[in-house]
Amino acid sequence: MNPLPHFEQSPLLRSVPGIYHAFLGVDPVEGRGRRERLREVFSLSAETIGTLKQVHSASVLFFEPGDGDGPGGWKREGDALWTDRPGSGVGVHTADCVPILLAHREIRVAAAVHAGWRGLAAGIVEGTVRALAGRFGDAAVEGIVAVAGPCARGCCYEVGRDTADALHGLPGNAEHLRKGKAPGKWTADLQAIALAALHAAGIPAGQTEATGPCTICSPRFHSFRREKSTTARQLSFLYIRD
Ligand SMILES: [Zn+2]
Repeated sequence: MNPLPHFEQSPLLRSVPGIYHAFLGVDPVEGRGRRERLREVFSLSAETIGTLKQVHSASVLFFEPGDGDGPGGWKREGDALWTDRPGSGVGVHTADCVPILLAHREIRVAAAVHAGWRGLAAGIVEGTVRALAGRFGDAAVEGIVAVAGPCARGCCYEVGRDTADALHGLPGNAEHLRKGKAPGKWTADLQAIALAALHAAGIPAGQTEATGPCTICSPRFHSFRREKSTTARQLSFLYIRD
Protein backbone atom coordinates (compact mmCIF):
# COMPACT_ATOMS: atom_id res chain seq x y z
CA MET A 1 0.00 0.00 0.00
CA ASN A 2 1.47 3.32 -1.05
CA PRO A 3 1.65 6.05 1.58
CA LEU A 4 -1.00 8.74 1.35
CA PRO A 5 -0.25 12.28 0.22
CA HIS A 6 -0.65 14.84 2.93
CA PHE A 7 -4.12 16.37 2.89
CA GLU A 8 -6.34 18.59 4.99
CA GLN A 9 -10.11 18.46 5.33
CA SER A 10 -12.51 21.03 6.70
CA PRO A 11 -14.91 19.87 9.44
CA LEU A 12 -17.44 22.37 8.08
CA LEU A 13 -17.38 20.93 4.55
CA ARG A 14 -17.41 17.40 5.96
CA SER A 15 -20.71 18.26 7.63
CA VAL A 16 -22.37 18.91 4.24
CA PRO A 17 -24.03 15.68 3.03
CA GLY A 18 -23.45 14.31 -0.45
CA ILE A 19 -20.02 15.73 -1.14
CA TYR A 20 -16.43 15.06 -0.29
CA HIS A 21 -13.31 17.15 -0.57
CA ALA A 22 -9.61 17.42 0.16
CA PHE A 23 -6.93 20.06 0.16
CA LEU A 24 -4.02 17.92 -1.01
CA GLY A 25 -0.43 18.69 -0.07
CA VAL A 26 2.97 17.15 -0.70
CA ASP A 27 2.89 13.53 -1.87
CA PRO A 28 5.67 11.34 -0.43
CA VAL A 29 5.42 9.03 -3.46
CA GLU A 30 7.93 10.44 -5.95
CA GLY A 31 6.52 10.80 -9.44
CA ARG A 32 2.92 9.91 -8.54
CA GLY A 33 0.89 12.19 -10.77
CA ARG A 34 -2.53 13.74 -10.28
CA ARG A 35 -4.36 10.92 -12.09
CA GLU A 36 -2.75 8.13 -10.07
CA ARG A 37 -3.19 10.05 -6.83
CA LEU A 38 -6.91 10.59 -7.41
CA ARG A 39 -7.38 6.95 -8.39
CA GLU A 40 -5.26 5.34 -5.65
CA VAL A 41 -6.28 7.57 -2.77
CA PHE A 42 -9.84 8.63 -3.59
CA SER A 43 -10.94 6.02 -6.17
CA LEU A 44 -11.79 8.83 -8.57
CA SER A 45 -11.02 9.01 -12.26
CA ALA A 46 -9.28 12.27 -13.17
CA GLU A 47 -11.83 12.93 -15.94
CA THR A 48 -14.57 13.43 -13.35
CA ILE A 49 -12.73 16.34 -11.67
CA GLY A 50 -12.79 19.46 -13.82
CA THR A 51 -9.86 21.87 -13.67
CA LEU A 52 -8.92 24.98 -15.62
CA LYS A 53 -5.88 26.61 -17.14
CA GLN A 54 -5.59 29.21 -14.40
CA VAL A 55 -4.74 32.73 -15.51
CA HIS A 56 -5.30 34.92 -12.40
CA SER A 57 -8.57 36.22 -13.82
CA ALA A 58 -12.09 36.71 -12.48
CA SER A 59 -13.55 34.17 -14.95
CA VAL A 60 -16.06 31.71 -13.50
CA LEU A 61 -16.97 28.68 -15.64
CA PHE A 62 -19.39 25.76 -15.42
CA PHE A 63 -18.10 22.19 -15.60
CA GLU A 64 -19.77 19.06 -16.80
CA PRO A 65 -18.16 15.72 -17.51
CA GLY A 66 -16.79 15.69 -21.05
CA ASP A 67 -15.63 19.30 -20.87
CA GLY A 68 -12.23 18.28 -22.11
CA ASP A 69 -10.05 17.72 -19.06
CA GLY A 70 -8.76 14.36 -20.32
CA PRO A 71 -5.14 13.66 -21.19
CA GLY A 72 -4.08 15.86 -24.09
CA GLY A 73 -7.48 17.50 -24.06
CA TRP A 74 -7.94 21.26 -24.28
CA LYS A 75 -8.14 23.25 -21.14
CA ARG A 76 -10.33 26.28 -20.73
CA GLU A 77 -8.93 29.42 -19.16
CA GLY A 78 -10.44 30.69 -15.94
CA ASP A 79 -10.00 30.66 -12.18
CA ALA A 80 -13.26 29.38 -10.75
CA LEU A 81 -15.21 26.32 -11.80
CA TRP A 82 -18.51 24.94 -10.55
CA THR A 83 -20.78 22.02 -11.21
CA ASP A 84 -24.07 20.57 -9.98
CA ARG A 85 -23.67 17.20 -11.71
CA PRO A 86 -23.62 14.19 -9.34
CA GLY A 87 -20.60 11.99 -9.98
CA SER A 88 -18.40 14.92 -10.90
CA GLY A 89 -16.30 17.50 -9.14
CA VAL A 90 -14.12 20.55 -9.55
CA GLY A 91 -10.61 21.40 -8.46
CA VAL A 92 -7.91 24.06 -8.50
CA HIS A 93 -4.11 23.90 -8.39
CA THR A 94 -2.24 26.21 -6.05
CA ALA A 95 1.16 26.84 -4.46
CA ASP A 96 0.70 29.95 -2.26
CA CYS A 97 -2.53 31.25 -3.88
CA VAL A 98 -5.70 30.43 -1.90
CA PRO A 99 -7.79 27.43 -2.88
CA ILE A 100 -11.42 28.07 -1.92
CA LEU A 101 -14.02 25.31 -1.98
CA LEU A 102 -17.75 26.10 -1.85
CA ALA A 103 -20.77 23.87 -1.35
CA HIS A 104 -24.35 24.37 -0.19
CA ARG A 105 -26.29 23.06 2.78
CA GLU A 106 -29.33 22.00 0.71
CA ILE A 107 -28.38 22.24 -2.96
CA ARG A 108 -25.95 19.76 -4.43
CA VAL A 109 -23.35 22.04 -5.94
CA ALA A 110 -19.56 22.30 -5.83
CA ALA A 111 -17.32 25.22 -6.71
CA ALA A 112 -13.54 25.63 -6.60
CA VAL A 113 -11.73 28.95 -6.77
CA HIS A 114 -8.06 29.75 -7.39
CA ALA A 115 -7.38 33.15 -5.85
CA GLY A 116 -4.03 34.87 -5.72
CA TRP A 117 -3.75 38.55 -5.00
CA ARG A 118 -4.64 39.36 -8.61
CA GLY A 119 -7.75 37.20 -8.54
CA LEU A 120 -8.82 38.58 -5.17
CA ALA A 121 -8.35 42.12 -6.43
CA ALA A 122 -10.26 41.25 -9.63
CA GLY A 123 -13.23 39.96 -7.60
CA ILE A 124 -13.03 36.22 -8.33
CA VAL A 125 -14.66 35.37 -4.98
CA GLU A 126 -17.64 37.69 -5.47
CA GLY A 127 -17.90 36.52 -9.11
CA THR A 128 -18.19 32.91 -8.01
CA VAL A 129 -20.90 33.66 -5.44
CA ARG A 130 -22.75 35.71 -8.09
CA ALA A 131 -22.56 32.81 -10.55
CA LEU A 132 -24.15 30.48 -7.97
CA ALA A 133 -26.80 33.12 -7.15
CA GLY A 134 -27.48 33.46 -10.88
CA ARG A 135 -28.22 29.77 -11.14
CA PHE A 136 -29.94 29.08 -7.80
CA GLY A 137 -31.34 32.49 -6.81
CA ASP A 138 -30.13 35.23 -4.46
CA ALA A 139 -31.67 33.52 -1.43
CA ALA A 140 -29.39 30.53 -2.01
CA VAL A 141 -26.32 32.58 -0.99
CA GLU A 142 -27.30 32.24 2.68
CA GLY A 143 -26.90 28.47 2.43
CA ILE A 144 -23.44 28.46 0.88
CA VAL A 145 -20.61 26.91 2.88
CA ALA A 146 -17.09 28.01 1.93
CA VAL A 147 -13.59 27.10 3.06
CA ALA A 148 -10.28 28.82 2.33
CA GLY A 149 -7.38 26.36 2.30
CA PRO A 150 -3.60 26.35 2.73
CA CYS A 151 -1.92 29.40 1.16
CA ALA A 152 0.55 32.23 1.74
CA ARG A 153 -0.23 33.84 5.09
CA GLY A 154 0.75 36.84 7.11
CA CYS A 155 3.68 35.11 8.85
CA CYS A 156 5.65 34.88 5.59
CA TYR A 157 3.95 36.54 2.64
CA GLU A 158 5.79 39.78 2.00
CA VAL A 159 4.53 41.89 -0.90
CA GLY A 160 5.59 45.10 -2.60
CA ARG A 161 3.69 48.29 -3.25
CA ASP A 162 1.83 47.13 -6.39
CA THR A 163 0.34 44.12 -4.66
CA ALA A 164 -0.42 46.08 -1.51
CA ASP A 165 -2.17 48.76 -3.59
CA ALA A 166 -4.26 46.11 -5.37
CA LEU A 167 -5.30 44.53 -2.06
CA HIS A 168 -5.82 47.77 -0.22
CA GLY A 169 -9.41 48.39 -1.30
CA LEU A 170 -10.64 44.92 -0.41
CA PRO A 171 -12.78 44.02 2.61
CA GLY A 172 -10.81 43.27 5.76
CA ASN A 173 -7.62 44.88 4.48
CA ALA A 174 -6.97 46.71 7.76
CA GLU A 175 -6.27 43.48 9.64
CA HIS A 176 -4.89 41.35 6.84
CA LEU A 177 -2.52 43.70 5.09
CA ARG A 178 0.14 45.05 7.43
CA LYS A 179 3.21 47.22 7.02
CA GLY A 180 6.28 45.01 6.74
CA LYS A 181 9.61 45.41 8.48
CA ALA A 182 11.38 46.73 5.38
CA PRO A 183 10.37 50.06 3.85
CA GLY A 184 7.98 49.69 0.92
CA LYS A 185 6.97 46.18 2.03
CA TRP A 186 3.73 44.80 3.42
CA THR A 187 2.64 41.38 4.64
CA ALA A 188 -0.62 39.91 3.43
CA ASP A 189 -2.72 37.01 4.72
CA LEU A 190 -4.45 35.63 1.65
CA GLN A 191 -6.54 33.18 3.68
CA ALA A 192 -7.99 35.96 5.83
CA ILE A 193 -8.55 38.21 2.80
CA ALA A 194 -10.40 35.36 1.09
CA LEU A 195 -12.65 34.88 4.14
CA ALA A 196 -13.40 38.61 4.23
CA ALA A 197 -14.33 38.47 0.53
CA LEU A 198 -16.67 35.52 1.16
CA HIS A 199 -18.43 37.43 3.95
CA ALA A 200 -18.65 40.57 1.80
CA ALA A 201 -20.29 38.44 -0.91
CA GLY A 202 -23.07 37.53 1.53
CA ILE A 203 -22.03 34.18 2.98
CA PRO A 204 -22.79 34.08 6.73
CA ALA A 205 -19.67 34.08 8.93
CA GLY A 206 -20.70 30.81 10.63
CA GLN A 207 -20.60 29.10 7.25
CA THR A 208 -17.01 29.87 6.39
CA GLU A 209 -13.86 28.27 7.67
CA ALA A 210 -10.11 28.46 7.15
CA THR A 211 -8.18 25.22 7.09
CA GLY A 212 -4.52 24.36 6.67
CA PRO A 213 -1.30 26.20 7.38
CA CYS A 214 0.78 28.83 5.61
CA THR A 215 2.25 27.13 2.54
CA ILE A 216 5.47 29.16 2.67
CA CYS A 217 6.51 27.84 6.11
CA SER A 218 4.84 24.41 6.07
CA PRO A 219 6.85 21.65 4.37
CA ARG A 220 3.63 19.64 4.01
CA PHE A 221 2.47 21.90 1.16
CA HIS A 222 4.03 23.16 -2.03
CA SER A 223 5.02 26.81 -2.06
CA PHE A 224 6.12 28.79 -5.08
CA ARG A 225 7.96 31.21 -2.81
CA ARG A 226 9.86 28.46 -1.01
CA GLU A 227 10.45 26.01 -3.86
CA LYS A 228 10.71 28.38 -6.83
CA SER A 229 9.03 25.69 -8.95
CA THR A 230 6.32 26.53 -11.46
CA THR A 231 5.14 22.92 -11.63
CA ALA A 232 4.97 21.84 -7.96
CA ARG A 233 1.36 22.65 -7.09
CA GLN A 234 -1.31 20.96 -5.02
CA LEU A 235 -4.84 20.03 -6.01
CA SER A 236 -7.80 21.02 -3.87
CA PHE A 237 -11.08 19.49 -4.97
CA LEU A 238 -14.72 18.97 -4.12
CA TYR A 239 -16.73 16.05 -5.50
CA ILE A 240 -20.49 15.49 -5.63
CA ARG A 241 -21.29 11.87 -4.89
CA ASP A 242 -23.43 9.85 -7.31
ZN1 LIG B 1 4.30 31.26 7.09
